Amino acid sequence: MRSLDAFAGEKLAALDAKNLRRRLSPTRRHDGAVVERDGKRLISFSCNDYLNLSQHPLVRAAAAEAALNYGAGAAASRLVTGDHPLLSDLEKRLARLKGTEAACVFGSGYLANTGVIPTLVGPDDVIFVDALAHACIWAGAQLSGAKVVKFAHNDPADLKRLLIAERAAARHALVATDGVFSMDGDIAPLDILSELCERHDAWLLSDDAHGVGVLAGGRGSGALFPNAEIPLQMGTLSKALGSYGGYLCGSQAVIDLLKTRARTLVYATGLPPASAAAALAALDLIAADPAMTEVPVAKARLFTQRLELPEAASPIVPVILGSAENALAASARLEAQGFLVVAIRPPTVPEGTARLRIAFSAAHDDNDVIRLADAIASLQDATP
Ligand SMILES: *Cc1c(COP(=O)(O)O)cnc(C)c1O
Repeated sequence: MRSLDAFAGEKLAALDAKNLRRRLSPTRRHDGAVVERDGKRLISFSCNDYLNLSQHPLVRAAAAEAALNYGAGAAASRLVTGDHPLLSDLEKRLARLKGTEAACVFGSGYLANTGVIPTLVGPDDVIFVDALAHACIWAGAQLSGAKVVKFAHNDPADLKRLLIAERAAARHALVATDGVFSMDGDIAPLDILSELCERHDAWLLSDDAHGVGVLAGGRGSGALFPNAEIPLQMGTLSKALGSYGGYLCGSQAVIDLLKTRARTLVYATGLPPASAAAALAALDLIAADPAMTEVPVAKARLFTQRLELPEAASPIVPVILGSAENALAASARLEAQGFLVVAIRPPTVPEGTARLRIAFSAAHDDNDVIRLADAIASLQDATP
């Protein structure tokens, strides 16, 4: 198809011209925070494996054992024959961790949000989404057919204004936000959002992909706000829990509804038993040593102190450089010094806010954190 390849070629050329083309780069992970790319070993500050549990011998062994005992894949949708008993064990554990009645596991975090949101809201409804919420929240919102209203990032006053303007015309309302913002590392004011939701009869969904395992003793960002009511607590198994898969924790009624209606559960193959076993092993390790959950944020704070940046609230610290070109150049200079810090560019972040997104993990040495901070300080000195 000549027109097809011409189309793809033109798209790629346009992205190249704006420094916005992305390329895959095969990467092997070694012990600790070391990764290997193009035969070079680098200390990675771009992994979301905050507790390094994907590499933990007990987590690996749990995954291997489950794969050997039960097979490499789930073989069908959970509603057919893909609902391995490990999945309900995991759901009970997640519900307990989050303090909800029940939980539902999905094939990934992306599949969780794109399944949950359209199950709960539709064309007569409205969904309010934080401007910097993760792409899969936006995808779920668009799939739902509800009216999608963007509110200014972490700005409850803006949300309140929009609720007053838009809520009454809709049947149901959902407010969706990241708990910890994936590219900025800041935390949503879940207590204030929860109060607004209560006052305006809206349902609060918080995506805790970057909070579970690393905030509030591992319980996640929601637990930082004991008075917040968060009926829809979504998250992923793929970051601090070192495995793969997503979940939603909520009331029994909501979970029962998802299990019969969420299209990404009904029409997608179940999570492999090995992923569930690995997540369970990770949750065991966290329960046995809750102090480990504090290490990634402590590393991030060491970094922000060294650079005199605002104190890190999570393991994620952005260093905003503006243009995609600047971000790519900074990343390349750090790579030459042995650090992998991937440049994050639009459309993952808003235009003009390309950045280094630095993710700290328990595997980082304090010395390496300080060396990275100093390398970044000298980058900025060198930038006009
Ligand atoms: C990574 C991420 C997801 C997607 O989770 P996966 O399990 O990787 O699909 C969802 N939301 C946020 C905020 C994320 O950072």
